[in-house]
Amino acid sequence: VSLGDLPTPAALVDLDRLQANCRWMSRRFAGRGVSLRPHVKTHKVPAIARMQVEGHSGGVTVSTLAEARAFAAAGFEDLCWALPLPPSRIDEALDLARGIRLSLLVEHPRTAELLERSARRRGQRVSVRLEVDCGYGRTGVLPSAPSSLALARQLSDSDWLELEGLLSHAGHAYGARGAAAISAIADQETRVTVGFAEALRAQGVPVRVVSTGSTPTCRRGEHFEGVTEVRPGNYALFDLHQAAIGACELDEIALEVLATVIGVYSDRVVLDAGALALSKDPGASHAGLRGYGLVMDLQRRELPLELSSLSQEHGIATGDPGGLEPGDRVRILPNHSCLVTALHPELVGHRGGRVEARWQPVRGW
Ligand code: PLP
Repeated sequence: VSLGDLPTPAALVDLDRLQANCRWMSRRFAGRGVSLRPHVKTHKVPAIARMQVEGHSGGVTVSTLAEARAFAAAGFEDLCWALPLPPSRIDEALDLARGIRLSLLVEHPRTAELLERSARRRGQRVSVRLEVDCGYGRTGVLPSAPSSLALARQLSDSDWLELEGLLSHAGHAYGARGAAAISAIADQETRVTVGFAEALRAQGVPVRVVSTGSTPTCRRGEHFEGVTEVRPGNYALFDLHQAAIGACELDEIALEVLATVIGVYSDRVVLDAGALALSKDPGASHAGLRGYGLVMDLQRRELPLELSSLSQEHGIATGDPGGLEPGDRVRILPNHSCLVTALHPELVGHRGGRVEARWQPVRGW
């Protein structure tokens, strides 16, 4: 099967680019003695995660319990669920943790209390990590707040919770522009999270794991002293946002959406890839990114079209249609790979246009 035979829209994964991206990140951290625990939410496919963990311990990060269950069933035995634990899912998480190593994320004393209560009732010890806000401002405790030390003590003093250590995510790196700005955010994450680990140790709270990382900071950061583990995920595929902020090159992007021209007008072309094939993520507009994706021909040459609006199943690419006709195919580099793979029932792995793999990403929560 070649790309010309596929029904569209289709999510394509370039296997050579994927493997090069996986190898680069694996080597970078193996060389520093830092363990790579890739975040699999970017693709939700166990076969891709196996490429990512080569040369490392085999541990992965998941974003949903559905991913955790599917990856456990596929043979992954060391998972970290990197979402503050929803109290509504405690029993399911503890059920799964009976068969594999599953570490849960806590950042509020009430969640810690509810988790401990369930663990005690079940007679089951459970591993937890304390989430630290390293400057992103989404979730996590602030190292400077006295309540953060109190929560760390609550976790480490518990008979039923095993505090592995700290976890942070520098998501604010996505608002940066250029390698130097990203590297400065990586330094900040290391400083804040390692600094809090040292402060806790000085207070007698054992901290074994210091887990940090995003794709931009792991790609462009330089200083990881004191970090024991990193969790980038997007780097397996990359996308236009990463390229726009300087975290990757355009040529490294391994995910594309294959689409068919369904309408041609003097000022625009209409494609069969709308919001449900590309997502409406606007990408890095602060870094000059415009449109919902980069439209290219089948030879991966950029076309003079701007994917300026999407409806559910229509993609409107404004500009000179050139010689395009209904039935012609285009390749689109997406703004945000993680959302695109989450929208498609299948990822099609190809090498130079020949289809070699078809994967069904995990669905649901
Ligand atoms: N860790 C956490 C907690 C995350 O939320 C994410 C992504 O959102 C990652 C790691 C992976 O980062 P990236 O998507 O930049 O690879």
